[in-house]
Amino acid sequence: MPAALYLVATPIGNLEDITVRALRILKDEVDRIACEDTRHSRKLLDHYNIDKPLISYHDHNERERGEELLDRLRNGERIALISDAGTPLISDPGYRLAAAAAEEGIPVIPIPGPSALLTALCASGLPTDAFIFGGFLPPKQGQRRKTLESWAESPATLVFYEAPHRILDALDDVDFTLGDRPVVLARELTKMHEEFLRGTAKTVKEQLKTANTRGEMVLLIGRGEATVKDDRPLPEAVAEAIANGMERMEAIKHIARQRGLSKREVYQAVTP
Ligand code: SAM
Repeated sequence: MPAALYLVATPIGNLEDITVRALRILKDEVDRIACEDTRHSRKLLDHYNIDKPLISYHDHNERERGEELLDRLRNGERIALISDAGTPLISDPGYRLAAAAAEEGIPVIPIPGPSALLTALCASGLPTDAFIFGGFLPPKQGQRRKTLESWAESPATLVFYEAPHRILDALDDVDFTLGDRPVVLARELTKMHEEFLRGTAKTVKEQLKTANTRGEMVLLIGRGEATVKDDRPLPEAVAEAIANGMERMEAIKHIARQRGLSKREVYQAVTP
């Protein structure tokens, strides 16, 4: 059989969430399985009696290990790439390898299955017709607010992966930049403690303060439809946004969007 790189999706929690095809490929079709953490993946593979040579491929050795895997593919090996959970390449390593293989004409074969992104989106109750997946939000407040602001006007549901130790700060920034939009926090998907917290950034944060903030989570934000009801004079609203850390032009843009006004209107109202 000719060489191929299989991108195989694996469970995001519940071990039953793996396709019959994925199991066949991992068991019978490949020479080797590349995975992020060999000990972690061994548990899944043992569960399904799959005994194949494993090779580690993660963020820190992606470059040199990628070269080695590419050489193996050139020499006719069939290799499966899996990640610790879900679909490889989705906020996980593999992009470089898949791109290099495709460029060399080596078949790249997707074996679809779970991903936290679509699992969360479908059950969130938020519109699914258009969405933006932003991966992990930046860890620093300034960058995070900029990222949220940059998608503020997109007519799409926003989906992010977030770490438990950053979620309260992220919700503060969602509230600050996007206001009272519907927010859903999808936690521990497909696991025993799966739950969906629904509300606005403020009320979801309140719910989290009383629950624990551990576990894996996906943050979803509904598209901006309503403009914010705020009848304070524009200079006051802009001054508050600046006091909260925005640059002047950023604050003008932010208030313009909240009020459904043009940037020019707000700029003129706050410029003596
Ligand atoms: N490749 C994976 C996928 O297809 O979903 C994502 C890998 S990324 C490194 C890990 C992040 O995905 C977690 O921090 C969390 O935000 C999200 N995630 C993964 N499994 C999850 C689950 N069972 N419930 C909620 N979020 C999950």
